[in-house]
Amino acid sequence: SYRKGGYHAVRVGDSFNGGRYIAQRKLGWGQFSTVWLAYDTRTSGFVALKIQKSAPQFAQAALHEIELLSAIADGDRNNSRSVVRLIDHFKHAGPNGQHLCMVLEYLGDSLLRLIRYNHHKGLDLNKVREICICVLTGLDYLHRQLNIIHSDLKPENILLVSPIDPSKDPVKSGFTPILEKPEGGNINGGVSMSFVEKKLKRRAKMAVARISERRASMGMPQEQKPQKSLEGIDMKCKVVDFGNACWADQQFMEEIQTRQYRAPEVIIRSGYTFSADMWSFACTAFELATGDMLFTPKGGQGFTDDEDHLALMMELLGKMPKKISIGGARFKDFFDRYGDLKRIKRLKYWSLDRLLVEKYKFLEEDARDFADFLRPILDFAPEKRPTAQQCLQHPWLTSNSNSNDNKLASGINNLQI
Ligand code: ADP
Ligand code: MG
Repeated sequence: SYRKGGYHAVRVGDSFNGGRYIAQRKLGWGQFSTVWLAYDTRTSGFVALKIQKSAPQFAQAALHEIELLSAIADGDRNNSRSVVRLIDHFKHAGPNGQHLCMVLEYLGDSLLRLIRYNHHKGLDLNKVREICICVLTGLDYLHRQLNIIHSDLKPENILLVSPIDPSKDPVKSGFTPILEKPEGGNINGGVSMSFVEKKLKRRAKMAVARISERRASMGMPQEQKPQKSLEGIDMKCKVVDFGNACWADQQFMEEIQTRQYRAPEVIIRSGYTFSADMWSFACTAFELATGDMLFTPKGGQGFTDDEDHLALMMELLGKMPKKISIGGARFKDFFDRYGDLKRIKRLKYWSLDRLLVEKYKFLEEDARDFADFLRPILDFAPEKRPTAQQCLQHPWLTSNSNSNDNKLASGINNLQI
C-alpha cells in the first residue's frame, strides 16, 4: 500500500506542515490512513497525526471527515463532550502524492486494547458505567446537537483519555520528544507498547498498593484484594474515527457499521438513523462487561453471515416482529411469508439476564440491572430504542453502587495518582 495513491511512508523525525509537527512513533492505522504520534513544536505538546492515503477517493473521504470533525470542534469549545478534537489539518506532498493530514488531540489506547489487556475477562461494572457515561455523552452530542450518525461505533473506535495529559505535560508523561532524525534512522516506527499502557500498568500497581494501605488503616482485612489491576484508574474516554460518519439527512451508504455491531435494520435494509449507533453502543457495553462480543455471526452450510446474525439476535431478543421484518427491502432474502427465517429453523431462545448469570457468572442482581439497561436499547424497532440522552437518565447509570471497593476506588481517583 506504500505506492502511488496509497499510504505515505513516514520515518521517525520527519517533519510536517512547514516544520511544525515532528513524527515520533506510529500509533496505529486503518484502511485509509496511518496515525502517528507527533510533537507539536508550536505548543510543545504531543498530538496524533492522521495521514490519509493520497488517491482521490481517500482525499474525498478525508475532506468529509474534516468537515464533520470541524463541526464537532466548533460546537464544543471547551472540549467536554467526549468526542475527539480536531486541532489542525493540512496537505502534505510526498512521493506517493498529496496526502490530507488531520491533527487530532492525542489519546490513549482503545477499549479493544483494554479488553485484551484485561484478558477478555470483562471489566468491573463500575468501570463499564464510567465508560458508558462518556460514550453516551459523546453520542448525545453528535445526535442531538450536530445531527451526525457515527456509523461505526465499537471498542476499537473509543479511545481512553490518558490519565496524565501528554499533550499538556510531556515531562510528567515521561516522554522526551525526538526532534531530529535518528542516526542511520531507517525506522518506520513499528507500533510498540504505548506509554499509556505502560503507565496503566504502573498506576494499577500503585493503586493496588494504596488500596491495601487504606484497608490496613481502616482496619479492613487484607485478603479482600481488589479483583482487577485496573482498580482506581479513571475510565475517561472519547469517540474517534469519523471516517464513516454522516449527517443524518445526507446518508450515502446502505450498509454501515462493523459486522458484529451492525443493527438489524441495516441488515434487512429498512433504513437507519441515530438509533443504529445505540445498537452498536449496547453491543459495546456488553463486550466491556463480559469480555466477549454480544454477536459473532458466521455463515455456514446453506446460510449466510446475515442470516446467522439475525438468528443470534432472535435467540437472545425473541422473534423479530413481522411488521418490522416486512419493512426491510431484503425481507424475501431472509424470511418466509410468516416472518420466520427461511434457512435457519431451530432457534434456542434464552434471555440476556440468563446469559449473564449462566455464561458470565454475574450475580443475579447485577445481571438483572445490567440487562434492564441494555434490553430496551436492543429493541428490533429502531424508533422504540431509548436515545443517548434517555440512557443517561437510566437508574443503572444514575444510582451509584456502594460497595466498599467502590468507595475506595473513588477515593483513589480523588487522590489524583
Ligand atoms: P481509520 O479511519 O483509518 O480507521 P482511525 O481514525 O480509526 O483511522 O485511526 C486508526 C488508529 O489510529 C486507531 O485505531 C488508533 O489506534 C489510532 N488513533 C487514531 N486517532 C488517535 C488519537 N487521536 N490518539 C491516539 N491514537 C489514535
Ligand atoms: Mg478506525
